[in-house]
Amino acid sequence: MKVLCLFSGGLDSLISTIWTRRQGFEVKAVYFKTPFLDRKIPEIFAEKYNIDLHVVELKDNYLDIVINPKYGWGKGANPCIDCHAMMITTAGKMLQSENAAFIVTGDVVGQRPMSQRKDTLKLIDKITGMSEITVRPLSGKILPKTTAEKMGWIKREELMDISGRGRKRQMKIAQEYGITEYNQSTGGCVLTERTYKNKIIDLIDNEQLTEENVKLLKIGRHFRTKNKTKIILGRNKMENEELKKLTIKEDKLIFPPQHKAPVALIKSPYNQEDIKITEKLIDYYSIKTIHNDINKEIVRI
Ligand code: SF4
Repeated sequence: MKVLCLFSGGLDSLISTIWTRRQGFEVKAVYFKTPFLDRKIPEIFAEKYNIDLHVVELKDNYLDIVINPKYGWGKGANPCIDCHAMMITTAGKMLQSENAAFIVTGDVVGQRPMSQRKDTLKLIDKITGMSEITVRPLSGKILPKTTAEKMGWIKREELMDISGRGRKRQMKIAQEYGITEYNQSTGGCVLTERTYKNKIIDLIDNEQLTEENVKLLKIGRHFRTKNKTKIILGRNKMENEELKKLTIKEDKLIFPPQHKAPVALIKSPYNQEDIKITEKLIDYYSIKTIHNDINKEIVRI
């Protein structure tokens, strides 16, 4: 019997996936890629533990739930309830084509403040309508029975009763399962970072939250002029090269005349005034001369 395991590459999803395999099921791990996650992490750990990984991209409507989440953001710009529900719903839709019986997640009751409280797990089940086919082995003993249990495919005594934010139980299980290396961070989703929130708000306010602009957030120093034009300056040679690659024909790329100075990308629309400010910024970040007047013309994001 085949099972779809939601796999982020973090310790909890690694344990739930290996637990599923140890129960004798054929495992297909599914990693839902968003513009805010690092795809390398799940790939590294899937390869290390011989897990069959399938990458599914949550594209256009993913940005819609970031802009306008029905259940709000957490402390960052993270729409965790909407996002988690979207992942489970998408996995549920794949069951038939994959000929799989149910879904397994690495959810732990109380582990995350927004999407893994007991009440929010219940809410997610209500949104997806898939409570019967969503198995959460790490907390399964303290959650209602699912179809997999009712049908005798899995046994309650094999499920775990982990809850709360601690990681000690998971670390012990990791040892038992021969998981010697795992990703130490709990998520790896930049949307949860409070410092990232302002950058997202800026893009939303300027109606520029697109996948291309999200890619640019990973590079350089970002500024917005009083005309609302976005300017990005490379901080090193690698970022200068990256900016060149991510420039589209409507944008303007300015190469500095001096050596060891930042390349600047001006996002469209822009005007002559924005170009002049960009030149001043290049100058400022090249020779460290303070131009008192520039602070009145620009906002660092
Ligand atoms: S942390 Fe990021 S990827 Fe995970 S549920 Fe929240 S928004 Fe989605």
